[in-house]
Amino acid sequence: MSDATLQQDLPAYRVERSSVHGNGVFAQRDIAPGERIVEYAGREITWDEAQVRAEEQGGPHNHTFFFSLANGNVIDGGDHGNEARFINHSCEPNCEAIEEEDGRIFIYALHDIKRDEELSYSYPLIYEGRHTPAIKRAFACRCGAPNCTGTMLAPKPRKRKPRPAPASLVDSVPAAAVVQSPQPVAAG
Ligand SMILES: [Zn+2]
Repeated sequence: MSDATLQQDLPAYRVERSSVHGNGVFAQRDIAPGERIVEYAGREITWDEAQVRAEEQGGPHNHTFFFSLANGNVIDGGDHGNEARFINHSCEPNCEAIEEEDGRIFIYALHDIKRDEELSYSYPLIYEGRHTPAIKRAFACRCGAPNCTGTMLAPKPRKRKPRPAPASLVDSVPAAAVVQSPQPVAAG
């Protein structure tokens, strides 16, 4: 059996401790550009239910794993989810998340990924509460990219635009926070 054949038999990724944040997901073998790596699995719940769950988690340092869908619902990666929920944010990602027509989310390689590289995607996290110093600390980005913005938080939008797929990943939802609410957001 050739090395190439052996490599194809390996799962594309593994989970281990990351220097960026908590657990991370790493390439177990070389991954080709455009390759579909893993589904972002989890139970689809309503936004209202997601807010209840976020409050139950108790604060910004307790991670929940919400991923908003075009239909206004949310995938909770912490409920029947898989390893995809451990993929970290990076300001210079090597993956992207795409919502398919049927409302399922898959992680694709943006470009060539070498074995042992950490997988990442960019998920500007929309947090509608005040961006206090504590909140900024809680969502600091340590991706190490030369163009790192230092934060996972998206700038506060002036007004909502329709969200095209891919939807933003919402990791780490503070209690009682309204994160990417389907309701209109007050301007200013
Ligand atoms: Zn960064």
